[in-house]
Amino acid sequence: MAYDENNIFAKILRGDAPSIKLYEDDKTFAFMDVMPQAPGHSLVIPKFPAENLFDLDEDYAAAMARTVKKLAPAVKKAMEAPGIMIAQLNGAEAGQTVYHIHTHIIPRWDGIDLKLHAREMANMDELKAQAEKIMAALG
Ligand code: AMP
Repeated sequence: MAYDENNIFAKILRGDAPSIKLYEDDKTFAFMDVMPQAPGHSLVIPKFPAENLFDLDEDYAAAMARTVKKLAPAVKKAMEAPGIMIAQLNGAEAGQTVYHIHTHIIPRWDGIDLKLHAREMANMDELKAQAEKIMAALG
């Protein structure tokens, strides 16, 4: 399948769709997931038109990993989460729903189950408050 320039994350990267931004550098962009599976659920995307890991340029794969390494501790600290799950889905069969590669950073707490994937819109004020805390933890 050819990369669709009109997928929602491509639009976010172009500034054609809104996002609650957490971090940006020359090769990556990070923002809040609007249908979070847990409070603080964040996404990191490369600034490269790839649907999945198999299409992704190596330098951008490395850049995405670096940004995850930078952002995950900030999410952990800001959300006071004992555990952090990192996930990256490739293909519909794996659960992928947006076809611009992305890495999920999802806080986990003992006894709190994940919410369903990409299902329920969060309250935007709550997401913005979480984003403020995460950016403060990023320094
Ligand atoms: P995946 O199923 O791995 O492709 O994940 C896509 C993720 O993108 C899901 O967790 C969705 O909740 C999230 N998502 C979909 N649309 C948006 C959007 N406009 N802004 C932020 N996150 C989104």
